[in-house]
Amino acid sequence: MVLNCCVFGCKNRKSRGSTLSFHTFPMKDLARKQQWIKNISREDVNGKPWQPSLYDRVCSTHFKPADFKDGTLVKCLKDDAVPTIFPNYPSYKQPTPSRKRPPPKERPFPSPSTSCASSPRLPKYSCMDHTYSYQSVEEHLRITKEKLAETVQKLQSEREKTRILGQKVHRQKCKITSILTPHQ
Ligand SMILES: [Zn+2]
Repeated sequence: MVLNCCVFGCKNRKSRGSTLSFHTFPMKDLARKQQWIKNISREDVNGKPWQPSLYDRVCSTHFKPADFKDGTLVKCLKDDAVPTIFPNYPSYKQPTPSRKRPPPKERPFPSPSTSCASSPRLPKYSCMDHTYSYQSVEEHLRITKEKLAETVQKLQSEREKTRILGQKVHRQKCKITSILTPHQ
């Protein structure tokens, strides 16, 4: 059986003495299979998205060297390998790197309470560019906390006063009632 590469515009085929390897689609790994199809971005004759068959192969020129397992005699793809090299494709068809993207950088200053105050590992300079410096935010937080505690205390003492006043009112009411009620 002749092995052809299924990538559009790729003329590679398995021949004697060729160092190319040909790889089947990861049929069992649906997510990765979709990634392969997306990257290969081939269209069916009727314009529908192309679906690979069990016999379709992708030749090794579409994979990075890092996509292959080391130390195997036959070129063997790693479990997360996805074809990304398509020299014959126009730029708009080139796959957009959606995998192995570096993690998003820390937002420079989300809010004073989460970014600077709670992560001491954050280098100072990242905060210094902004209105608050590391110290002033901490100071601000400390003062706010103190004020809050003060307010809570005041509130508690006011509550206590209200409770005592309520008791007094109750006693006065009782007195009035007993005066008004004719004793027999
Ligand atoms: Zn190919």
